[in-house]
Amino acid sequence: MAQPSMQSSYPGVHSEVRQFIGGRSRRMLIDGKWVEAASGKTLTTYDPATEEPLAEVPAGDKEDVDRAVRAARKALESGAWPRMTPSERGRAIWKLADLIEARTEEFAQLETLDNGKPLAVARVADIPLVVDHFRYYAGWATKVEGATIPVSTPGQRVFTYTRREPVGVVGQIIPWNFPLLMAAWKLGVALACGNTVVLKPAEQTPLSALRLGELLEEAGFPPGVVNIVTGYGETAGAAIASHPDVDKVAFTGSTEVGHLIMQAAGASNLKRVSLELGGKSPNIVFADADLDQAAAGAANAIFFNHGQCCCAGSRLFVEQKVYDKLMPRLIEHSEKIKIGPGMDLTSEMGPLVSSEQFQRVNSFLSAGRKEGAKVATGGGRPKQFDKGYFVAPTVFTDVKPEMKIIREEIFGPVVCAIPFKDPDEVLAAGNDTTYGLAAAVWTRDINKAHRLAENLKAGTVWINCYNMFDAAAPFGGYKQSGFGREMGKAALELYTQIKTVWVDLGAY
Ligand code: NAP
Ligand code: MG
Repeated sequence: MAQPSMQSSYPGVHSEVRQFIGGRSRRMLIDGKWVEAASGKTLTTYDPATEEPLAEVPAGDKEDVDRAVRAARKALESGAWPRMTPSERGRAIWKLADLIEARTEEFAQLETLDNGKPLAVARVADIPLVVDHFRYYAGWATKVEGATIPVSTPGQRVFTYTRREPVGVVGQIIPWNFPLLMAAWKLGVALACGNTVVLKPAEQTPLSALRLGELLEEAGFPPGVVNIVTGYGETAGAAIASHPDVDKVAFTGSTEVGHLIMQAAGASNLKRVSLELGGKSPNIVFADADLDQAAAGAANAIFFNHGQCCCAGSRLFVEQKVYDKLMPRLIEHSEKIKIGPGMDLTSEMGPLVSSEQFQRVNSFLSAGRKEGAKVATGGGRPKQFDKGYFVAPTVFTDVKPEMKIIREEIFGPVVCAIPFKDPDEVLAAGNDTTYGLAAAVWTRDINKAHRLAENLKAGTVWINCYNMFDAAAPFGGYKQSGFGREMGKAALELYTQIKTVWVDLGAY
């Protein structure tokens, strides 16, 4: 049986984290109770900096999902949850935010150990964003409004209004790149709108979601409102997507699995689907940009979270005139990034999440070389590491439009740089992808900036910035990057359904 490896490896691990990893993580949350998988099986998560086993969690599958869905259905339709006022729901979500905030260090360490990301980043980005996200949706709980409709029924007085009701039992399947933040994006709005949830975290990073589960009761959520089933995608995830009593499935992950989710939803009960999938986002630098700002921005666009961002700026288009000025600056930024275990507070970039992802990214590096692209910097695991899934920030040049590295999502710290001559050319090249999650434009020309913002086929366009997020700002994809918008008011559409009520008030 796997034993936690971090006990000896890192100084300063929070005692709660040790205790949690040392045993409590072996149970998952169904109907307010902490239970093992019905099969008794567990799965192991690994510390990607050491490749050592980190913790055991239940390997839930269909039977566990069935139990969780039954609990969520019961909690939706009876008991305390449907009777809670919107204000009480809002307060529970806000309390959850407070409880997480008070444990920022603990959650940040769990993220770092499980996912590999730098602790310094998890402390100031992941966890505060989670807290802010829950607070934002706590506010929405009291603002989920219907409308009165001015109908035109001849000779009759009619009162017609709409109610915005919860969609029902919601299955939420999330990835490993921002484990707790992805849970928050999904849970906050679902709970604000009065739904109940079966959440499945990624097999690589289930720990922070399970720990969050321990806070739900104290926050004021009745049993069964949020159920957390850990397990593999092919079993637990697939059981959620195909479940006949799940009303909606929300998924973030690969486009490949997105297809499977839609098929399963279609083949079962036509459950609602929202998908947030991959990307191959164009990041466009014009000659009139502030080049220092653009070079730093281009590095952040691809190297933040080790390139494991759905919106990573993985295709860097640089106007020909300044290509030779911008590239050395980008390479300098890339080479300055300090790589090391996330638990080392001086690390700016940690390992990739898993052995699978490490191999996947390395196979793209080989493919790029084989197809004739040039590695300007990086290109594999830095020499100082003989273990851990570390990949150096990598810049490819001499990239051709048909190459695999420019067409497919790598999901690692690898950017392809491509020179361009004019706005029309770069617009066509930027949009030449099956994805459409995000794009960015660096220029001092306001007309050009807005023209591109209008014509780039992407759900988010950043101008002179990158990776900007806020709970209030909708996020989601065009094309095969998915559909449905998370965050902001827009997300309420995904988690409510409209009921129209007609009342005959008699003749005039
Ligand atoms: P993935 O397979 O799409 O995983 C995302 C989530 O879906 C996980 O919880 C996964 O469970 C679950 N899942 C997998 N197969 C499923 C199925 N048949 N039915 C229902 N749920 C299923 O992604 P991955 O394998 O971790 O990463 C592969 C690639 O996906 C990456 O290289 C990257 O290109 C892309 N990706 C994109 C995002 C994003 O934010 N858009 C995030 C992660 C990955 P398990 O993890 O337990 O198997
Ligand atoms: Mg892990």
